[in-house]
Amino acid sequence: MVPPAAGADHDPAETVRADVSTGPPGRKEHRIRISEPLLGVEEETAVLAVLRSGRLTSGPRVEEFEQAFAAAHGFAHAVAVSSGTTALVTALRAHGIGPGDEVITTPLTFGATLNALLEVGAATRFADIDDDFLLDPAAVAAAITPRTRAIMPVHLYGLPADMPEITRLAERHGLTVIADAAQAHGALVAGQSVAAASTATFSMYGSKNITCGEGGVVTTPDARIADRLRLIRNHGMRNRYEHLMAGSNYRLTEMQAAIGSVQLGRLPEINRRRAAHAARLTTGLEGVPGLITPRQPADRLHVWHQYTVRLTDDARAGRDEVIEALDQAGVEARVFYPRLAFDHDCYRDHPRIARGDTPRAELISRQVLSLPVHPRLTDTDLDRVIDAVRRTLVSPGPEPHPKP
Ligand SMILES: *Cc1c(COP(=O)(O)O)cnc(C)c1O
Repeated sequence: MVPPAAGADHDPAETVRADVSTGPPGRKEHRIRISEPLLGVEEETAVLAVLRSGRLTSGPRVEEFEQAFAAAHGFAHAVAVSSGTTALVTALRAHGIGPGDEVITTPLTFGATLNALLEVGAATRFADIDDDFLLDPAAVAAAITPRTRAIMPVHLYGLPADMPEITRLAERHGLTVIADAAQAHGALVAGQSVAAASTATFSMYGSKNITCGEGGVVTTPDARIADRLRLIRNHGMRNRYEHLMAGSNYRLTEMQAAIGSVQLGRLPEINRRRAAHAARLTTGLEGVPGLITPRQPADRLHVWHQYTVRLTDDARAGRDEVIEALDQAGVEARVFYPRLAFDHDCYRDHPRIARGDTPRAELISRQVLSLPVHPRLTDTDLDRVIDAVRRTLVSPGPEPHPKP
């Protein structure tokens, strides 16, 4: 069951909201946050049932969640793990990727993508992105070396990368594809689930389209890989104390799985609302000078994990100024991500990181700004976001925050 429309701030059914605070008392307009989960009494009931069952781990809820996740993603095999990061690590291990292997990925991503590659001992080579913020297949082709074993596209902001082209490239060069779909539950590319094209990893972290606090899922169309994923997740054991390979403990708890199953039931509604919110933002922001709204290529279904605009040099205000003006108007905007993945002191001169030539990613990372698009927003909230952006970038003399 999905609770009533977003912005139901006074909906008594939604008792498990992450944060009901509406800013300082006496202030008329509440703060519009960059992300808020859609949670209801069903999650509460599901967790309580687990607690009362006395079985908190390795029980039936994880299997139920996996089956529901697989069904929601085109009937690939789904293996639940403890986070989106351990999903990446488990997937890489299941495909036998480790020391001596090189993986090509995008520099515009969350740090987990790179950290997972470092954790399994693989080398990372970065290739440039396209105007939709995604790994550019032509740049990947140019980055392939004799040591390349895999390509790791990231379906950033909820928009799938060009999987048909990346798959063709991988087949031509005998490479594995593991997609980081942490932000893309339910997304489609070339008419198929992002779980159909290759092994893919998802996150159930608190800010993702669906969440169970912390959690992850690996999907794969390959039954043999699915078997390895299950073994690696559980110390390499099929039967108790019988180790078939070295593994670890990447298990999800029954409480998390129970929440995850309820969230999966909400996924269509969540993604529908996000798409409607994105459409309203795009219409409202049309014609703003120096602002490029995100597009949805014809063969892909965007699930709008983030609504990310680009601010070009002809914009009336710089990015920091826009963030500040939005903050004054009670709107939280955020940069995903302020630096490219390799651009941190701890990774500089790392022997297993090849920066590559990524001028477009460098330019775009200085321009991106994400605006609230989450499922709890009302049309009034979205219009406040639009007005605040327009006041800053269109009309002369941006106004400070509204008076109470
Ligand atoms: C969130 C995220 C991850 C990591 O997921 P966790 O569940 O936080 O470990 C990996 N990659 C991307 C692109 C993400 O957005």
